[in-house]
Amino acid sequence: MIHFDNVTKVYKNQGRPALQHVNVAIEKGEFLFLVGPSGSGKSTFLRLILKEERPSQGHVHVAGKDLSRLTNWKVPHLRRRIGCVFQDFRLLPNKNVFENVAFALEVIGKPRRFIAKVVPEVIDLVGLEGKAHRMPDELSGGEQQRVAIARAFVNRPMILLADEPTGNIDPATSIGIMKVLDRINRTGTTVVMATHDAAIVDAFRKRVVELEDGRVVRDQSRGVYGQAY
Ligand code: ADP
Ligand code: ADP
Repeated sequence: MIHFDNVTKVYKNQGRPALQHVNVAIEKGEFLFLVGPSGSGKSTFLRLILKEERPSQGHVHVAGKDLSRLTNWKVPHLRRRIGCVFQDFRLLPNKNVFENVAFALEVIGKPRRFIAKVVPEVIDLVGLEGKAHRMPDELSGGEQQRVAIARAFVNRPMILLADEPTGNIDPATSIGIMKVLDRINRTGTTVVMATHDAAIVDAFRKRVVELEDGRVVRDQSRGVYGQAY
């Protein structure tokens, strides 16, 4: 589903590569934790999958397509098939839960009837039944992140990218968020989650890819956050 083939990324005016000779293959339906200190290249890895950045060397393939051969006008189509969740939720503050999720479908022209059917299903899937009419500022941080996940998933993307999704959430609530991501993964969606959350990584025992100074230093199935060297 996602294939990094000897990818090096050097940003303009930066001597040190953000990623160096990265080779990672992620199969359809996998759940992968991307770990490593701040500045190790995790966000760059995610941005390459969205074609928000291009490799300086090597190739990124998504769903069998080499992104360097994807014409610009097809990039929106790629991004539509990839859901994104961020640390800071990024909800529309003056829309309620239903409207925040529905908006993701309205902008791609889905009919009102379809929206009315699928939005409540996804609100239930993320555990927000009964809260469709709440405004974001009437929700806890954990609940706001559930809305953001619902919005990212409502179009049934093939891939969900999550960048520090539990970074602004207390530990007890983070477990609930992780269970939602796990539920989404079990529908067949490939999930890549960049995280610093050692407790979450250790509790869920998924594949762990660790970056250090832009290099993959560990790729472990059912891994933990910190390796005892
Ligand atoms: P992480 O997400 O692990 O914190 P990043 O991918 O954001 O790591 O950063 C990797 C390296 O690339 C860092 O040295 C960072 O300063 C640099 N970097 C990230 N984005 C840019 C950019 N847009 N321009 C220049 N350098 C960048
Ligand atoms: P969590 O366990 O997700 O952190 P909280 O304990 O913060 O949840 O919130 C518990 C309940 O209180 C939730 O159902 C939430 O909807 C409600 N709530 C939290 N913050 C607010 C707020 N600022 N205004 C209205 N309701 C709130």
